[in-house]
Amino acid sequence: MYRKIKELLQFGTVGSAIEAKGWIRTKRINKQVIFLTINDGSCQQNLQVVMAPSALPKTLLNQLITGASIVVSGNLVASKGSNQLVELHGSQLTLLGNAPDYPLQPKAHSLEFLRTWPHLRFRTNTFSAVFRIRHAVSYAIHHFFHERGFFYLHTPIITAADAEGAGELFRVTSLNIAHLPKNLDGSIDFREDFFNQATNLTVSGQLAAEAAAMGLGAVYTFGPTFRAENSNTTRHLAEFWMVEPEVAFDNLEDTIALAEALLKCLLDYVLKQCPTELDFLNQRLLNYSKEQDRAELPLLERLRFVLAEPFARITYTEAIALLKEAESNKQGKFVYPVTDWGMDLQSEHERYLVEHHFKRPVVITDYPKDIKAFYMRQNDDGKTVAAMDVLFPGIGEIIGGSQREERIDYLEKAMQRTSIQDLNWYLDTRRFGTVSHSGFGLGLDRLILFITGMENIRDVIPFPRTPGHVPC
Ligand code: ATP
Ligand code: MN
Repeated sequence: MYRKIKELLQFGTVGSAIEAKGWIRTKRINKQVIFLTINDGSCQQNLQVVMAPSALPKTLLNQLITGASIVVSGNLVASKGSNQLVELHGSQLTLLGNAPDYPLQPKAHSLEFLRTWPHLRFRTNTFSAVFRIRHAVSYAIHHFFHERGFFYLHTPIITAADAEGAGELFRVTSLNIAHLPKNLDGSIDFREDFFNQATNLTVSGQLAAEAAAMGLGAVYTFGPTFRAENSNTTRHLAEFWMVEPEVAFDNLEDTIALAEALLKCLLDYVLKQCPTELDFLNQRLLNYSKEQDRAELPLLERLRFVLAEPFARITYTEAIALLKEAESNKQGKFVYPVTDWGMDLQSEHERYLVEHHFKRPVVITDYPKDIKAFYMRQNDDGKTVAAMDVLFPGIGEIIGGSQREERIDYLEKAMQRTSIQDLNWYLDTRRFGTVSHSGFGLGLDRLILFITGMENIRDVIPFPRTPGHVPC
């Protein structure tokens, strides 16, 4: 009977007749015996297959190479080797797919090299671990919100609004771009376009989520998000996945508590559900740190530490004062020196606060209104808004959120100030039964980056989209 390798390793009875399928990872052969390790993606571990080479035709033997797919039947027996408890003593082996010139060798390839084979890297230990963890986290996100009475909301991917000036837009059009219809002044006549107006890919589902929260109470979005910003960093993708809860009647403190609970619940889930993946990635990181001569907290300790410690809290104003006095700033070690209240914090400042000062995740609140989005609730000082960012070690900002401005006169003023138009529908949420409400956006890919200890966001999403690069 055919079973997944995960099941065979966990529940297979020694002595039973079984069938396994998978891709060959490694092969060792001598006169008496051939050892194959095969993996079918169901778990981190490989299944060891042991056979007598004499049982196989010579041509088939030569085709048993890394990357080829096979089906083997035989008996599950207790293994003599130290790497596994059981192995498969094969009596029959069939080649499913040959793999001549398979580009991945049974050795550790660099991540850069594997990025040039994005369609094959799913078959490596590292990437299969990352993507199994990505699945586990996604599942746990739905579970977390469902248990708390949130409703999963599918917000539009194509939108007419530049939601919040959150980033540069990707235009969506059905116009023939070789022959664009023009207005008299030379500008493009979008009335001819599919929607009779200009549209783009969404940069955030928040505004739609706010409207939904005003009827459903508590909702969350979880979907792809697009930003055409030319940020060629290890933390930015042009297409990434964002989770955005929005809760009616919640204030800033409520949403900070929700963010901390969510992050900790997800870390806890992965620690419990993906131990072999984490062990593998932990070891990978230890080897890497040794090569680089870096003394870092091992991955597992890092995750447990974040889980155990309460997040630090600081206001933007306090953060600026602290950074101004920091030795790194005085010695000119920041690329962007910290000078005046009102400046935006760069990721080097965020990481300084997290990694050097507090040595744990930090929540920064109450930013100047001029560097934050128009919908954030103005504080009584008239200068700051009820915003919060959650900063993580190695990453910087992982969550950005706020209490929303529920007072229509304040909101209209903020929209005028930032030249936001055409959001009449959005103002209706404040015209009819307005209530305080709050929410945030969590970048899924950045969270996976943190959990897996990978260093580049391109290595935690299938087929990454970045400036100048769309693999398929
Ligand atoms: P940053 O300043 O790091 O570019 P942001 O302030 O523009 O991020 P928000 O608009 O607050 O980001 O989005 C909420 C969250 O979405 C961020 O905290 C981050 O985790 C994630 N995020 C934003 N932009 C990207 C991107 N280009 N690629 C991956 N994740 C992103
Ligand atoms: Mn942000």
